[in-house]
Formats: sequence, C-alpha cells, structure tokens
Amino acid sequence: MQRRPEVGVLAVQGDVAEHAAMLDRAGARARPVRRVAELADVDGLVLPGGESTTMSRLLASFGLLDPLRERIRDGLPVYGSCAGLVLLARRVYDGRPDQHQLDGLDVVVRRNAFGRQVDSFETDLEVRGVDDGPVHAVFIRAPWVEKAGADVEVLARIPDTAEAGAAADRIVAVRQGRVFATAFHPELTGDERLHRLFVRNVRSRVRELEER
Ligand code: GLN
Repeated sequence: MQRRPEVGVLAVQGDVAEHAAMLDRAGARARPVRRVAELADVDGLVLPGGESTTMSRLLASFGLLDPLRERIRDGLPVYGSCAGLVLLARRVYDGRPDQHQLDGLDVVVRRNAFGRQVDSFETDLEVRGVDDGPVHAVFIRAPWVEKAGADVEVLARIPDTAEAGAAADRIVAVRQGRVFATAFHPELTGDERLHRLFVRNVRSRVRELEER
C-alpha cells in the first residue's frame, strides 16, 4: 500500500488546526510548515483561511515566498481556502498594494467580494469532482474569482437564484493542474470530501515522482 502522503499546512496564521484534522481524516499525514526546510519535505501544501494580507507579509518575513513559488512551479499540489485563494491568484482587486501573490492560479480575484453587509453566509454547492451530493459551503469575508484563464477549470459557482444578487454565478472553486482553491471553508464543516479530492491528487503526484 502507498504510504500516507505528507501534507503541510502553512502555519503562519489562520485556521491551521482545522485543516490538519481534515487532512488526517482524508488519509494524509498533516504537518505545520513555517520554515523553508519544512516546505522542502512535504508532498502537498494547504494554504488555510485567515487574512491574506497578513499571511502574505508573514510569508515574506519567513523567507517562504520565493521557495513556495518555486515549488508550485515545479508541480507541488496546493489547496487554498479563502485567504489561500487570494494568495494563489495572479492578481487581486481590493487587496493591499503591498500584498504578494504566489501566482499559482491564472485567476483574478476580488477580496471581500460579497460585500460588507454579508460578512458571512452559507449555501449548498455542487462541486465538480465531489460526488454524493452538494457541499455545504461556509463563506467568511470571502473572495470570488472575477476572471479565470483558459487553463483554469471551474469547479463551482454560486447558484443563480433571486437571493444571490450580485453573487449569482460567481466562480468560487477552481483548479489548475495540481493547484486547487475554494472561496469557502470546507475545513469548518466536518465534510472532508474536498480534502479527499486534494489528497488523491497529492498521491497521484507522489506516484508520478516515484515512477520517474
Ligand atoms: N478576507 C480575507 C482576506 O482577504 C479572507 C477571509 C478568510 O480567509 N476567511 O484575506
């Protein structure tokens, strides 16, 4: 049997423990990543929700920014939720001018897109690649994807209902190669299907490297 893949959770800020618990349940071995040496060891990485401006600043001061960009370019599987999506984007609207981008996804995101009045909300979403019914999605000061490049696969959109208003049809889950991101927080709901989807992808990358 294949070993449990080692999946790091960027542990500079945000909901690290929740992701680690979900990864363990999804068949991986989770470990915190704060240092370059820890990043070098992992088979995959989760960028948790939190505050992308703070996380971006801490990534820079921990010296992780360039090593992480390089590992992503080399094919490291990465999954970002909420602030993680913001970090992975190529470009951000309504970000801070000094906010750094990892450029792992060819998307433009809008930070805090759902508006001030709607700080958080929950809805059920069909997510491509996730079987057995919709995912209960929790959005907290979430971004959405304004533009997605040709190589980006859209995994979920906000349903076009009367209540959705300006959010109708907005892209909230994407994948490009081995990089995944959601605007919502599956780590907060106890439903580990998205983490399983990601861990499957990490396993397939581990196999690919072993067969080289
Ligand atoms: N609004 C936050 C940001 O832009 C994201 C919020 C979250 O991760 N829950 O970084």
